[in-house]
Amino acid sequence: MRVGILGGGQLARMLALSGAPLGLRFLVMDTVADACAGQFAPLLVGDYRDQAALAEFASRVDVATFDFENVPAESAEWLSARVPVFPNPRALAVAQDRLAEKTLFRELDIPVPAFAAVSTRAELDAALATVGVPCILKTRRLGYDGKGQFRIRSLADADPAWGALGAQAETVGLIVEAFVPFERELSVVAVRGRGGEFRTWPLTENWHVDGVLSASLAPAQADPALAGKAVAYAQRLAERLDYVGVFALELFCRDGALLANELAPRVHNSGHWTLEGAETSQFQNHLRAVLGLPLGSTAMLGHACMLNWIGAMPAAGAVLAEPAGHWHDYGKAPRAGRKVGHATLRRDDPAALAASLEHVGRVLDRQSQVAPPIAALRAER
Ligand code: AMP
Repeated sequence: MRVGILGGGQLARMLALSGAPLGLRFLVMDTVADACAGQFAPLLVGDYRDQAALAEFASRVDVATFDFENVPAESAEWLSARVPVFPNPRALAVAQDRLAEKTLFRELDIPVPAFAAVSTRAELDAALATVGVPCILKTRRLGYDGKGQFRIRSLADADPAWGALGAQAETVGLIVEAFVPFERELSVVAVRGRGGEFRTWPLTENWHVDGVLSASLAPAQADPALAGKAVAYAQRLAERLDYVGVFALELFCRDGALLANELAPRVHNSGHWTLEGAETSQFQNHLRAVLGLPLGSTAMLGHACMLNWIGAMPAAGAVLAEPAGHWHDYGKAPRAGRKVGHATLRRDDPAALAASLEHVGRVLDRQSQVAPPIAALRAER
């Protein structure tokens, strides 16, 4: 059985590594020849809009999935006429467009921040009047890791915001969203099988720096009612979209209520801790779902914290010396702002995990990165 993955980054790489015990083969397609999944799986270099490349991809795989959510929806459609594609192209299309996504959330009674579509400068003024300030102007499509966003603090920021993003109104579209002064960011990583079986991993708390995930802690401290809501929202989405595979629903938590931010239609950075912190990882369960195999347990093994390495890898020693320290180097060239690897620390109890984080933070001089999860671990128990 050969699984095709569109996109050859670290997600495809970890999918390929997790699929090896199942006896799976892979083919990865990416636009660049040095895509890091290519170190472990055959790599087809081509443009996602190139039908000849897509045809070759389809002819060499039994089933296709994604590591990259911005594969053009038409390409996913085209492929799905030739080979089974999971998640289905409609789910991908919804998740690619912040407007379609938020409209669906609202339709499913999933609370969202106020939002309005913007395609002209006059519509920006109208949106600011209805949504209010502060708010964020975002591109509807192709934004990720905080890119394609402009924070509008007061009406005086309308001109600079339009100056920064207005040119994209016609190409990728724009949306204004109310700024949420959240207390916490949470995500629920979920999986739905081909037969409709649905599971979630424990709720995860996330911290971002400059729009990029810095640390994730699981399980997040949350009362059962809150966690239940997050799971119910994810299940509603999965069922409406007839979703197959893993996805993440990112949520803001404010005053004990949840507001949905976005749906990531793929394995997700906030689920990397599942590799060592859960009975079955998000990568393995994604593959099981896509192949129609029974899903594995999503139960946690103690407490886990993932630290992202952005720009360049630190020295591995401090993490490797921990009782349960796990190292993931994606084999990428260093570059500012680029996700090049991560570490997961796992311990049986919160105090031990906080101590591990403190030690690693001190040795690597990353105290500011480990401080939020340490504070969360110490506050809760
Ligand atoms: P996104 O690409 O929409 O996930 O945004 C990246 C990060 O920017 C989020 O994880 C938040 O930390 C922040 N952010 C995005 N949208 C909002 C919002 N409406 N209110 C407050 N913070 C936001």
